[in-house]
Amino acid sequence: MTILENPVSLDATPAKFKPYTRQSISTARQWQWLSPELQEAVQVVSHVLPFRTNEYVMEQLIDWSRVPDDPIYRLTFPHRDMLPAQEYAALRELVLYKKDDAATARLVREIRMRMNPHPAGQMTHNVPRVNDAPLKGLQHKYKETVLFFPSAGQTCHAYCTFCFRWPQFVGMDEMKFDARECTELVSYLATHPDVTDVLITGGDPMIMNTRSLAGFIEPLLAPELAHIQNIRIGTKSVAYWPQRFVSDKDADDLMRLFEKVVGAGKNLALMGHYNHAVELRSPIARQAVKRIVGTGATLRMQAPLIRHINEDPASWAELWTTGVRLGAIPYYMFVERDTGPRDYFALPLARAHEIFQAAYSMVSGLSRTVRGPSMSAFPGKVVIDGVVTINGEKLFALQFLQARNPDWVRRPFFARYDAEATWLDHLKPAFGRKRFFFEGDEAQDHDHVPPGRVIPILPAAQPFDRRASDSQPSAA
Ligand code: SF4
Repeated sequence: MTILENPVSLDATPAKFKPYTRQSISTARQWQWLSPELQEAVQVVSHVLPFRTNEYVMEQLIDWSRVPDDPIYRLTFPHRDMLPAQEYAALRELVLYKKDDAATARLVREIRMRMNPHPAGQMTHNVPRVNDAPLKGLQHKYKETVLFFPSAGQTCHAYCTFCFRWPQFVGMDEMKFDARECTELVSYLATHPDVTDVLITGGDPMIMNTRSLAGFIEPLLAPELAHIQNIRIGTKSVAYWPQRFVSDKDADDLMRLFEKVVGAGKNLALMGHYNHAVELRSPIARQAVKRIVGTGATLRMQAPLIRHINEDPASWAELWTTGVRLGAIPYYMFVERDTGPRDYFALPLARAHEIFQAAYSMVSGLSRTVRGPSMSAFPGKVVIDGVVTINGEKLFALQFLQARNPDWVRRPFFARYDAEATWLDHLKPAFGRKRFFFEGDEAQDHDHVPPGRVIPILPAAQPFDRRASDSQPSAA
């Protein structure tokens, strides 16, 4: 089959992208099916958390007979419980009754700042500098990988209510990462031969048309960047708008762009963000996977584990199994991050491990490329390998899958078991130790500094900030 063939009937699938926001959602035919309470929650909470969905998500992914418990409804529609009761009541009063725009804006900003808009470290610790000036739209956390945020890719086909990139969408300009063009990226990469991977992320870069996307990707194929082996694109469009790869008017051009990158000898890896098995049940979503892998690109599947949305191990097993059958590669199950309405979505690490274990045991070896549950924390990606008892002490066994200091990777370490802990900063070292090995002097001495003119990422006098986390691909 060539990549341009389309054997699946897509007659019932919306062909033209139609978004819905707070301003327009009441025009959707499904709006009248929501109770007044649910409608109110959307109108109120969407002042804080960005709200955007689209016709495809509404028509094909949400099962309206299960609302509000349908996982994709919870994934894309704001809920009352995503704010503490007091904040919800105060905002409701301002939005619905006082209609005071200035006071609403003040309260919204207050709530957003409380929500840890950039898990600390993103704005300050990973931004490369040249001559002491920050390079806009770039992050360089791990030696071999640079993240690039093209400005035209800083939105998505729909917004996830748990999203940790949400400041990108709500006009918090001082919290935004983006770059209008890739000249600085190319110059930076040309002087950093250790970098092998570029992750183009957002938002969702696949929101761009093919011509714009090519403007960011093609310069990476230049001979002076021969050390760039892997070009990754973080995207949720495979789930929220698979038409991007199948039936959009420039979908075929996109496939040719992918082929060009592969033909240039690079590995093009789409980091597909799939939250739930339903996202791979529609014919067009399956067709999108086939067309992507048909170009020679790879498609990896990753997503956070989120309470109310994907707690069922069977859903993960179905997702991975279907993905493998179509040619995709299960990659990560993440732990939900410390940002946004985290109390609503977070699951204890112990429970996350149980869910991962149960899902893993349901699939064949081909799906066991998946890793997790993994926390994208400040020092690196930490995976919970298991729960063990050593000398009568119940412990979490952990290791770094990726780390600021490459020497930390795959070095096992242990934390005291804590049934309630939801993030790395809640854990205490095992065996009576005061600090984890990556928190002490050893960590300070060996903290990784990307080569070249990048400033140190952790000033020597600064204590380890356990709440800080970053660099997990978004839709990416
Ligand atoms: S960046 Fe990713 S997680 Fe955030 S709203 Fe977009 S698709 Fe969802």
